[in-house]
Amino acid sequence: MNLEHYIDGAHVPSVSGATFTALEPATNRPYLTVAAGGPEDVSAAVSAARKAFTDGPWPRMMGEERAAVLRAIAAAIETRDESIAALECRDTGLPIAQARGQARRAAQNFRFFADVITTLGEDVYRVGSAQLNYVVRKPVGVAGLITPWNTPFMLETWKLAPALAAGCPVVLKPAEWSPLSAGLLPEIMEEAGLPTGVFNLVHGIGEEAGAALVAHPDVPVISFTGETGTGRTIMRAAADGLKTLSMELGGKSPLVVFDDADLERALDAAVFGVFSLNGERCTASSRVLVQDTVYEEFVTRLAARATRVRVGSPDDPATELGALIHPEHHARVMEYVRTGVEEGARLVAGGSRPEALPDGNFLAATVFADVTPGMRIFQEEIFGPVVCVTPFATETEALELANATRYGLAAYLWTNDLRRTHRLAQGIEAGMLWVNSQNVRDLRTPFGGVKASGLGREGGRHSIDVYTESHIVHLATEDLPIPRFGIAEPA
Ligand code: NAD
Repeated sequence: MNLEHYIDGAHVPSVSGATFTALEPATNRPYLTVAAGGPEDVSAAVSAARKAFTDGPWPRMMGEERAAVLRAIAAAIETRDESIAALECRDTGLPIAQARGQARRAAQNFRFFADVITTLGEDVYRVGSAQLNYVVRKPVGVAGLITPWNTPFMLETWKLAPALAAGCPVVLKPAEWSPLSAGLLPEIMEEAGLPTGVFNLVHGIGEEAGAALVAHPDVPVISFTGETGTGRTIMRAAADGLKTLSMELGGKSPLVVFDDADLERALDAAVFGVFSLNGERCTASSRVLVQDTVYEEFVTRLAARATRVRVGSPDDPATELGALIHPEHHARVMEYVRTGVEEGARLVAGGSRPEALPDGNFLAATVFADVTPGMRIFQEEIFGPVVCVTPFATETEALELANATRYGLAAYLWTNDLRRTHRLAQGIEAGMLWVNSQNVRDLRTPFGGVKASGLGREGGRHSIDVYTESHIVHLATEDLPIPRFGIAEPA
């Protein structure tokens, strides 16, 4: 199977003819040859998008007209949701049941931003009767969208929908380890009637195609989701062009359990929070902090549940934990498991490949107890099915531990003490906190992290802010006083 770029309404190979190969995570067999974009391909895509911006109808349409196309995109996704889920499952190793949920979310993203753009007002500031100041939102220009491999189709649509809603033509660079489902986007966009040149897709290696997109002078905004290290590289590269950046980066999110919590529900949330999506989830609850009074009990129960998490073929509907994305990533996660053992953490579940799955990137759900903040497995994002459990005695210690990494994406708090909830909610350094809840998202709310987890927010009108400039017009409705310089007689 071959996958090409999609530039100005046409499927095209790379100018250089270069390609790369994608592997199937469950077997590591190569199954797809993909065009590997370089600066010439990115340039062609940006030119097409730029032309759609300067001369095309898209940025000039009424919000309602763009919204109608976005709703048609959502409908086109819905008619293909089974095939999107199947492609995603094959391409990423995500369990099929979870891939189906991600496909549904992709359609919701377009419906949601269709509603946002038709309901979002612009501001007027009256200064008494003397001045009327009004703000219009203008699309920024060509948006460069760079996405990771963990939930590719959903995350691509999470950026495409608001960028298109705002009126920006786009160039999307999907992750090279998961290019397959993005291959459906051209026919979806065409079926929905998106004008030619508004959606462009360039596949390729991050350091080549991604870097060329970041460097391109006609791309004023980059929305990036990926690793913190890559985020830093992109920020440096974007500095010369003074580009608008939205950075959704890595995480090492704590789930804090006090002894007054509903422990069974906290356990459900801990297990789901770190083992769903193969643990390859930016908001994974990968550090579980448990009050010492219930610590041993919680560790025992967590280990028992982890041992029963069903690891298996991604296309089996009963599978809860599939195959990690790539052999390199599998090796990296396994290296962390070895590091955890060497650092002296107590391995209480998993830690190795299930015997029944000799091929592919499989790893049993893994639990380390007695993890201390000095250990690398406490500090670094593993991005796999590995959870670290650490005891604490007091609320102060819980807060210190929760904040003891460089990341600050999400946090989860389990307690029934109202005052403590609010104290910790103010003290925890994270962009998003869930209290007595798993990670349920309301698309209107700001999504993003603090510290090394990101810069800026997406979600609802925050996403529209990324892709628009606020343009203020000051209009005098009366004669405002103007200081008169240059009327004095010469001295
Ligand atoms: P990655 O940073 O390796 O790659 C992400 C994308 O950036 C890919 O498309 C890649 O090709 C591209 N890229 C790489 N180098 C580049 C460069 N120099 N210039 C431009 N583009 C470049 O990340 P990944 O391994 O694909 O994804 C996993 C990471 O993503 C984890 O750290 C995870 O926490 C993070 N993530 C964050 C969120 C969030 O919303 N905060 C969501 C999902 C994943």
